Amino acid sequence: MAKLRILKVGDSTLRKVCRPVDTITPRVLTLLDDMAETMRAANGVGLAAPQVGVLRRIVVIEVEEGQLIELINPKIIAYSGEQESEEGCLSVPGRWGITRRPMHVTVRALNRKGETFDITGSGLLAKAFCHELDHLDGKLYIDCALQMLDTE
Ligand code: ZN
Repeated sequence: MAKLRILKVGDSTLRKVCRPVDTITPRVLTLLDDMAETMRAANGVGLAAPQVGVLRRIVVIEVEEGQLIELINPKIIAYSGEQESEEGCLSVPGRWGITRRPMHVTVRALNRKGETFDITGSGLLAKAFCHELDHLDGKLYIDCALQMLDTE
């Protein structure tokens, strides 16, 4: 596994729409592993492929230690409720924002074996689904934040 460089806001790659994964190649599996390592090393709870310069619809999330969620070609298929809370991004260091997101989100995606699965998350996980899937369409949470905060 290898730790990858995380692109920062201002890099045009973060603003591009990512293409779906057609075939789950060994390269995709290596990318998933490297993204998980990179996310953990940066103390993040989620990372999207464009953040490491790869314009493919791939996301990793780990809001609870040891419970890694890998999403290939994810789509939100249902959501409900609302939450307003703090949100940050590894590509926007040193800043936080208050966002409004759904409280419950269900995502349909492929796993690393190419099987379709659905996963529902609430609270922080629902927020992470929205945040990371937005990255795949070139959107950052700072675009929709109700308020931005600087750390310190
Ligand atoms: Zn982010």
